[in-house]
Amino acid sequence: MRGTAAVTVMVGLNIVIAAILGFTAALCVGASMGMRGNRPMSWLAVALAMGSVQTLVMTFGGGGGLEIVAAAMLAPPAYLCAGQAIRALAPRPGSSLPVTVVVLGLSATALTLQAIGAPYFYQALAVQLGCTTAVIDAMVQMIRRAQWGVLDSVIVVLLAALVAFCAVRVPLLLTLFGPEVTFTSFRQSWMETALLSVSGLLVPPIIFLLLARTVSDTLAIYQRQSERDGLTGLLNRRAFDTTAETALGAGGAVILCDIDNFKQVNDRFGHEAGDDVICTLAALLAESGYAAGRIGGEEFALLLPGRTAAEAVALADSIRARFNSTVHPVLSGNEWLSASFGVSHCAPGESPRAAFRRADVALYEAKEAGRNRVSAFSPAPEQTTVSSSRVAA
Ligand code: GH3
Ligand code: MG
Ligand code: MG
Repeated sequence: MRGTAAVTVMVGLNIVIAAILGFTAALCVGASMGMRGNRPMSWLAVALAMGSVQTLVMTFGGGGGLEIVAAAMLAPPAYLCAGQAIRALAPRPGSSLPVTVVVLGLSATALTLQAIGAPYFYQALAVQLGCTTAVIDAMVQMIRRAQWGVLDSVIVVLLAALVAFCAVRVPLLLTLFGPEVTFTSFRQSWMETALLSVSGLLVPPIIFLLLARTVSDTLAIYQRQSERDGLTGLLNRRAFDTTAETALGAGGAVILCDIDNFKQVNDRFGHEAGDDVICTLAALLAESGYAAGRIGGEEFALLLPGRTAAEAVALADSIRARFNSTVHPVLSGNEWLSASFGVSHCAPGESPRAAFRRADVALYEAKEAGRNRVSAFSPAPEQTTVSSSRVAA
């Protein structure tokens, strides 16, 4: 009577687990489609769907060959898909071919052994080796993540526990039952019940933590995309303005910069060559280490918190000189390009907009004075200018 109640509880619990896995898989599919085919979400959806089906087969499979086939076809590939989800989060993921070949090869071996009626022990060996390999791969992918946080550490610890759990099954099977054990006697043993309970405890937290990691990584990617200019990777205008408000609170200096006669570059060499030139100057600005933004087509800005206008002039002039001496492979012949710069101080507590208005006046002066130079705003009518060495295109 007690045994029947326990079985009923187990069946009920498995149905709930299968339903949660299936529901979460459906959520991941919806989320992935909403994010235009988000790859980590798609891999997690496949892993969860496989887990859900396997749980149902293990519950209602009747303890026969179907359960062994399901274990071979679903368990190692499900772990493999979870590893793929982690791999897909990496900016430059390594090849998954070797681990895929090994894991699917072990699944195929297990199925072949089942088909030819080999002892259950060898089938279990192939399945467990496949699961262990896939979970180790998932763990390695997690460890190789560039940005490491508490969430990642918890996932790695849980994956390590799962590796141990997968790896220990075969020696236990061999020690407690011997190689002649049948699937039925193994399935009904306390050991298998205990092992399934451990896995039931370990797998759901790993899945939900992986989901949390996927969601937060994806949001970070979208946030970065919404703040960055698609061509140069510098801050876009909106993000730059927001950054300026906080960065210049205690005062500093700002630099505005505009490529000289850029329209001619487009007209003579084409828009793509123009884009290349824009990226070249953007890279020089980014190398300064200060917050740099692309605030117009060929217009850029730099924030120098805590710096004086004189320091900003010196930096602007060094960037001007480097850009002016840059060889542009996309432009035929010896084409030397130049840019003009406007600099202003920003007083503590002052709105950066006011500082940029002054820098814009200075930039206009630099253009008027002949381009390829740096002009600093000063309250006096005349501007301080540092003049050019090479003629613009
Ligand atoms: P000035 O020295 O007075 O700044 O002259 P300019 O020719 O640089 O300035 P103007 O404002 O007349 O031309 C800017 C050109 O920049 C016009 C526009 O087609 C081009 N432009 C704007 N955005 C992009 C872009 O993303 N890529 C390319 N290739 N060209 C762009
Ligand atoms: Mg220009
Ligand atoms: Mg312009």
